[in-house]
Amino acid sequence: MSELPIPQWAEKVAAELGQGPHVVVTGISPSGNIHNLREVLVGEAVANALMARGEKVRFVFHADTIDPLRRIAPGIPESFEEFIGHSLSRVPDPEGCHASYAEHFLSPFEEALREMEVDVEVLRSHKLYENGVYTEVTREALEHTEELREILQEVTGRRMPEHWSPYLPRDASGRLTGHRILEHVPEEHKVLFEDEDGWEDVADYSRGEGKLGWRVELAARWKALGVTFEPFGKDHTSRGSSTDTADRMADEIFNYPVPGRYEYEWISIKGKGPMSSSKGIVLLPKDLLKIMPPDALRRMMLGRDPSRTLELDLGEGFPRFMDEYRVETDANPVPFNHLVTVAQTVGTDLEAAAEMLRRGGYKKAARAKEILARDLAYARNWAEEWAPESMRLRLLSEEEAREAARDLDADSREYLAAVGEKLSPEMGGDEVQDLLYSTAVERGLKPKRAFAAVYTVLLGRKSGPKAGPFVAGLPVEMARERFRV
Ligand SMILES: [Zn+2]
Repeated sequence: MSELPIPQWAEKVAAELGQGPHVVVTGISPSGNIHNLREVLVGEAVANALMARGEKVRFVFHADTIDPLRRIAPGIPESFEEFIGHSLSRVPDPEGCHASYAEHFLSPFEEALREMEVDVEVLRSHKLYENGVYTEVTREALEHTEELREILQEVTGRRMPEHWSPYLPRDASGRLTGHRILEHVPEEHKVLFEDEDGWEDVADYSRGEGKLGWRVELAARWKALGVTFEPFGKDHTSRGSSTDTADRMADEIFNYPVPGRYEYEWISIKGKGPMSSSKGIVLLPKDLLKIMPPDALRRMMLGRDPSRTLELDLGEGFPRFMDEYRVETDANPVPFNHLVTVAQTVGTDLEAAAEMLRRGGYKKAARAKEILARDLAYARNWAEEWAPESMRLRLLSEEEAREAARDLDADSREYLAAVGEKLSPEMGGDEVQDLLYSTAVERGLKPKRAFAAVYTVLLGRKSGPKAGPFVAGLPVEMARERFRV
């Protein structure tokens, strides 16, 4: 982790934070698909920058697993309505593959973080409550219920309900919401409460039998974990927002210095809009790792400066992004578009891919088989999932090529036959390109028509990737066969 380059903005944040020890926290609710990689990566960059300055740093990902289910995420069965108000860690997995609803969404995200080698400590909030990490701050919050309510009302401009409490005890059915606290017994860390039906019950807040409401929890968490820095998405920091209330609560109630802050902007997806799990506009890190290496994904998500909005283009613009990334990380990069062509031409045949690259002039890349296999997989996955139609290729079968050739005129067919005669296995991409061109000129055929004929019998279309390297990459016998029409 410390080998990652430290971006300038992160260095600046670290310098302003000053002396530690530091606790960098990022947090996300696993109430649906987790896509917010930017938050974790901002935390990682700042943690790294602090470490580079010789600071002691604990870097934490606070997964809000004890949070109540608030609404039904896209794709979740309606029947889950019955779990609204229940802790995500206690709601069943909608697909039945994990221990809980929370784990179902947290697990793949955690896996992606591992794959990216993000060195972060993942904490589940229901465990923190069960293990007593929140006990002291909960007691403080309960003792200052009135002042907390005042702050909430002043900052948000909204009146809190009459029986508002900073603490949400869990009732026998599992619900955290809609209860009224009757009594606080601090020496036993217990509250006596009444549920919606008028039943009285007791919750022990040192054992995870409830949680703090989210706005209070934010400030309480800073103190409970000793947080010194936390990044926030822009929507959390507008006026009257959760950071506004938490700042005052930390200062006036919990007596804890407000942690350093960085406001990052949202990421949107070209053609779709801002990422939002409630709208189902998400890009999952695990899917993105199928088309690029972890460091490219880091770079993509952070952008030049995460305090600016970013529009991701995973379609047409993606090859350029990959090329820019490779130029900086690889001494001899193969253009991504070329990898895409090779991957679609040879399928998973690594030897054939190496041969195609070698003849295309990428000898070094052809030799590094392990890297090549990985890069081809990225290119192939991108071609299948994201590539615009114009970049999707499929070699025609012999039968299909014959069929396609019927539309060509005699001049074009004779041109192809002439090229086929002259093709030889030693020719590289440039030589084949010359051959295709000079043969057209010799025969008085317009190059545009000549190349269209080539693409017609190979790909069943009028255009395609640069013809010379493409044809050179095919087994010679196959190319000759296709040109003999
Ligand atoms: Zn699952």
